[in-house]
Amino acid sequence: RADVGLYRAKQAGRNRTVLEMSERPPLAIELREAMERGALDVQYQPIVSLPDGTTVGVEALLRWTSTTRPDITPREVIRVAEENDLIGSLDWFVLRRACLDAAILQDAVGGHALMLNVNVSGLEIAEKGYVARVDEVLRATGWPPTQLVLEVTESVLDADSPAAIASVRRLRERGIRIAIDDFGTGYSSLSRVEALPSDFLKLDRSFVSSIAPNSTAPPLLSVIAALSVALGLPVIAEGVETAEQAALLTELGFPLAQGYYYGRPQPVVALFAELAGSRPSVAADIGPGAQAPT
Ligand code: C2E
Ligand code: MG
Ligand code: MG
Ligand code: MG
Repeated sequence: RADVGLYRAKQAGRNRTVLEMSERPPLAIELREAMERGALDVQYQPIVSLPDGTTVGVEALLRWTSTTRPDITPREVIRVAEENDLIGSLDWFVLRRACLDAAILQDAVGGHALMLNVNVSGLEIAEKGYVARVDEVLRATGWPPTQLVLEVTESVLDADSPAAIASVRRLRERGIRIAIDDFGTGYSSLSRVEALPSDFLKLDRSFVSSIAPNSTAPPLLSVIAALSVALGLPVIAEGVETAEQAALLTELGFPLAQGYYYGRPQPVVALFAELAGSRPSVAADIGPGAQAPT
């Protein structure tokens, strides 16, 4: 969080040292240029069914491969975009790109309907015209609404925005599903999760990484498993990195997972090759207990 403070200070012109040190254009300007040049990219991470490891979906994740900012993380890019009124164009770029790429990945998985998860900034979804624009992207790309999952974070709920809730309702009327991202990290989650019309909980990575080697399930995980059943909201567990974590989540009854153990985010072509190459025996290849694919 230190970087946020630094950036804000810099924007306000209060931190003269930082201002004097940076001779390159501000991040926001570089980002805007990258968007205009088409230098942004989208990668895809598999979402798998537990316990057999079959790929049932993908999450689209923004990538900016910048020569001037080689170390910038997607999270920083999103923050800069949100603070500089660029998040809208960025999210639309990702949604359109992802709906086009997903058709390719659908071919690779064959029979079952692939689910496409796309992140949406909470600021965006409450905007007037948001739903109409989603309709337009789906119509233009031909991707079916019933195979689209929009991921929103709990902060959307924290804001308790009637406009956001109204958008979510209308999206769901079209068969688009809503996932609550980073579930468990917002403090008001329990009461609000019941109020927000949604379809999936994406269990934050911190819960999965709290699974210690050779131990039993952390009590909180059992509670969340029960909660998900009670609310009728299936959990997608994020950040699964080991066979042991996968096995334990399966034992707890979590239906879906995502993480480096199953696959890192990668360009559409690479994921296509992997999925097409491993079909139809993907389940046998990457179940819990097997070696992590590399
Ligand atoms: P998120 O939506 O929670 O996405 C999951 C993040 O966890 C991704 O980070 C992914 O690369 C990372 N991850 C997945 N499996 C593992 C694992 O096993 N171990 C570890 N250590 N990490 C794992 P990434 O790509 O850096 O994205 C960070 C966040 O940036 C995303 O979190 C999302 O909130 C935001 N974001 C990314 N793309 C977009 C976008 O197009 N629009 C918006 N609004 N936000 C986006
Ligand atoms: Mg997400
Ligand atoms: Mg998440
Ligand atoms: Mg997360």
